Amino acid sequence: MDKKKRKEISDRLRKEKLIEFRQSLPIDENLFPKLFDFLEDGLEKNGCNHNSLITEKFLQKNGITNATEVICWLAENGGYCDCEILANVEDLFDYLNPPKINLISKNTIHRQKIHRLKTDFDFCIEKVPSPWNLIKITSTSGKEYQFQIGKSNNCTVSLQSNFSSFQHDNDEKWKNLWINETKLNYNLEDLTIERIQLGNYSAIVAKTKNWTPVKIWCTNKVNTKWFLKMNTELSRYKGDIKEFGETIE
Ligand SMILES: [Zn+2]
Repeated sequence: MDKKKRKEISDRLRKEKLIEFRQSLPIDENLFPKLFDFLEDGLEKNGCNHNSLITEKFLQKNGITNATEVICWLAENGGYCDCEILANVEDLFDYLNPPKINLISKNTIHRQKIHRLKTDFDFCIEKVPSPWNLIKITSTSGKEYQFQIGKSNNCTVSLQSNFSSFQHDNDEKWKNLWINETKLNYNLEDLTIERIQLGNYSAIVAKTKNWTPVKIWCTNKVNTKWFLKMNTELSRYKGDIKEFGETIE
């Protein structure tokens, strides 16, 4: 099959998927962007209460009679509470408004460069080795720590302590994570999972030949309370892994 034909097929599949998605909507699609604006305001003022009260208020205000169906539909699409509805469902409507607007306005996120870190889940670093920077990101959803090489955002390593579904041997799971995070759902024939040993760390690498994003999860064999998640690019990930391996030794 030649390239042109393959592209035609993937374009057609994408269009079919979109038609199916639009048919599944429980309310007028044009109400969704308004819901997301309403949520953004509400969440900024009061944060998320781990329920969908702000969404329900919006539906009520707009005279929606099948609110229960809407709430179920949102949950089915990854929005179990107000913050998840904003974080997981908004992107599904990018087709309404192709140039994407930034979800969270910059002033709600505070970024601070820090030089050492000790967390309550036993991550400890006394001095961040150059050329890495350690950034503490504070936002309405909590604190996050991210390592960066220099000023560019092309390679970041974030510190995470949520192990709820860490299954080392399950390739399908890692592939799905890559797809979820990149939102790329076609041309995935050669999406592969590789495992690399780096001293005290084991790394799981998810990448394809067709797409730029490379996702790498590094777990520490000694301390299993946290892991490091690298987001990088196909053209540079080998160098980044090498650099990372030397830094963490
Ligand atoms: Zn929430």
